[in-house]
Amino acid sequence: MSLSEIQARVLAAETAAGRAPGSTRLIAVSKLQPPERVEAILDRGHRLFGENRVQEAAGKWPDWRERFSGLEVHLLGPLQSNKARQAMELFEAIHSVDRPKIAQAIARLAQETGACPDLFLQINTGEEPQKAGVLPSGADAFVAECRGLDLPVRGLMCIPPVDEEPALHFALLARIAERNGLEGLSMGMSGDFERAIAQGATHVRVGSAIFGERPT
Ligand SMILES: *Cc1c(COP(=O)(O)O)cnc(C)c1O
Repeated sequence: MSLSEIQARVLAAETAAGRAPGSTRLIAVSKLQPPERVEAILDRGHRLFGENRVQEAAGKWPDWRERFSGLEVHLLGPLQSNKARQAMELFEAIHSVDRPKIAQAIARLAQETGACPDLFLQINTGEEPQKAGVLPSGADAFVAECRGLDLPVRGLMCIPPVDEEPALHFALLARIAERNGLEGLSMGMSGDFERAIAQGATHVRVGSAIFGERPT
């Protein structure tokens, strides 16, 4: 696959769903990818990227930000409270606000600095014990708590269980967002982004389909 093929598939999925062209943002997930692959995408003009780890992103993106203007980098992976300050400096958005404790830490820092990235709250739609995120039954209360903390909550995010039809999880996430008046839906990865767009994804997070398999 290439960037332009994925862009074409995003557009086709938007059209098939009766959605406006360009209503889905394509996040190129660059975690663990060799720098030359990322630079190839930067050279093609793509400006929106996703990373999983604060430390890894801190080592890569400052240099690229000097060389390429208009970059946006979003954090998609788990965030520890002691990394919150660094994450808020590094990223334009955080998709993995997954528990009250991290929301409270972000809120304290936002009060102190007067700035905060866009936030997505992670919902554990599959209710998997090993997975991050609040359970669907606690989602409305978590949204309300984050709003009460004055946080810029833009939407919800989920990572469906690997062995289940993702469309059901995307539909559930969309329902929770809708009843909470949230516009943003961060859902869909390399294997299922078209199904996510059909369910209203505003942000799809595509890694290996753009860059190739991640080296292990
Ligand atoms: C790695 C990752 C992706 C991208 O996965 P691909 O299957 O390579 O597209 C998307 N979202 C999150 C949260 C990830 O960790």
